[in-house]
Amino acid sequence: MINEIKRLESLARTLDMDADERTILLEQVTAYSQRFLDDIPGEPTYSSNDSREIYESPLTEEGINIDQALTLLKNNVDRSGINTTSGRFLGCIPGGGLFPSALGDYLAAVSNRYAGHVFASPGAVQIENMLLQWMASAVGYPETALGNLTSGGSTANLLAIVAARDAYGVEGAKLDRSVVYFTEHVHHSVDKALHMAGLSRCIRHEVAVDDNYRMDAKKLEMAIVSDQMAGLKPWLIVASAGTTNTGSVDPLPEIASIAAAHDLWFHADGAYGAFFVLCPEGRTALGGLVSSDSLVLDPHKTLFLPYGSGAVLVKDGSKLYASQNWEAAYMQDIPDNLEEVSPADLSFELTKHFRGLRLWLPLKLYGLAPLRAALSEKIHLARYFHDRIRQTNGFEAGPAPDLSIVTYRYRPPRGDVDEFNLRLVKAIQEEGRVFVSSTRVNGRIILRAAIVSFRTHLDEIEETLDALKRNARHLIEKDH
Ligand SMILES: *Cc1c(COP(=O)(O)O)cnc(C)c1O
Repeated sequence: MINEIKRLESLARTLDMDADERTILLEQVTAYSQRFLDDIPGEPTYSSNDSREIYESPLTEEGINIDQALTLLKNNVDRSGINTTSGRFLGCIPGGGLFPSALGDYLAAVSNRYAGHVFASPGAVQIENMLLQWMASAVGYPETALGNLTSGGSTANLLAIVAARDAYGVEGAKLDRSVVYFTEHVHHSVDKALHMAGLSRCIRHEVAVDDNYRMDAKKLEMAIVSDQMAGLKPWLIVASAGTTNTGSVDPLPEIASIAAAHDLWFHADGAYGAFFVLCPEGRTALGGLVSSDSLVLDPHKTLFLPYGSGAVLVKDGSKLYASQNWEAAYMQDIPDNLEEVSPADLSFELTKHFRGLRLWLPLKLYGLAPLRAALSEKIHLARYFHDRIRQTNGFEAGPAPDLSIVTYRYRPPRGDVDEFNLRLVKAIQEEGRVFVSSTRVNGRIILRAAIVSFRTHLDEIEETLDALKRNARHLIEKDH
């Protein structure tokens, strides 16, 4: 038996690398990362390359060396699909990925602190709670607010909706009569969250939008009143604090008063937009956020973090706690600490990555000022882009941007407008220098530029405008 244990031990011990082995890995990974970051300005924003080498290199009993692993990454991962680290990438909602965040992840993984419970790592929990308190105070939430760092906005929306469900006791026979209000521009993760929360039987009332794609508050109130008269139970309003599609901010102050007057839970989905409260222009656009009952923010969008960071806040934190705090025999040695609430009591996630560090490190190293400036800059760039599009022959601009997403489209002299715009966006994406995307609003194809990355500055915007004009001209010439 001892011999067998020793034999196994000698192989198992290779898992625990010594300093020299670690140095080799660190040097190679550092060199690779430096090259990756230095090369960003020249790299395409999109590559259709779909190599199958990952499948052709299966997991085997013996490992490969770091060079080989990095080559696989470089050829198969880093150079295929969309490149969201590029400042010329204006599709989806790209954050860019602040470098110190990568180091935060690294440190969190090295020390492997258990950030779920205050007993396990008081410091890690303090970091998480301090970040959430900072977010809460940035939107003006009182000290009663509690929250959680999540993997992203979808998880955060789910936690908020479940807390709202539990606070209002929406279950059983009530389900079929309970009504949820949002607009057609609500993020699909809200619909998914309702589904996952067992709320599919609730009635969804889609409220009309105005010309700026914002929820029409009058129509919201009318809908609530008529639903009440029909014997239904209006329960939840999900407002978008910046829609993904067009960046529009629903009229939050009006929605807040309507929610208060009719006793509805007011959830604000600010996965894209909420962090703009950190700059003056955004703070103006987002007035009323403070009156929401719960809020979602995505640091991996508008705090420029790499993917894997969302956050939920619930103004009356006891409602989130009541909804997520659970007991289990194998956790009985962990004492309750009501001074410092544990993340695991505010989420369905128990063991999770020490997420706080990837946010805390960049905020501490940079300070807040450059982040505020970058957010202001994005809003100004969006306004500038919108002005320039309006003045460019052949293009028509959508409404003035509320935050940093601009919608527009090209009007060709003849032919199908939707089809032309789809071809235009495809031509630009295939060219690979800049990346803009299309969407459908009111049944029409429109183009959008999401100006979010911390690497997007005036030069990248000028290049995007040039690419739009150049490609539109080419297509028109081809059609002749
Ligand atoms: C991105 C987004 C979400 C979903 O967030 P993930 O982080 O992608 O899960 C939800 N709502 C809005 C408004 C978003 O922009």
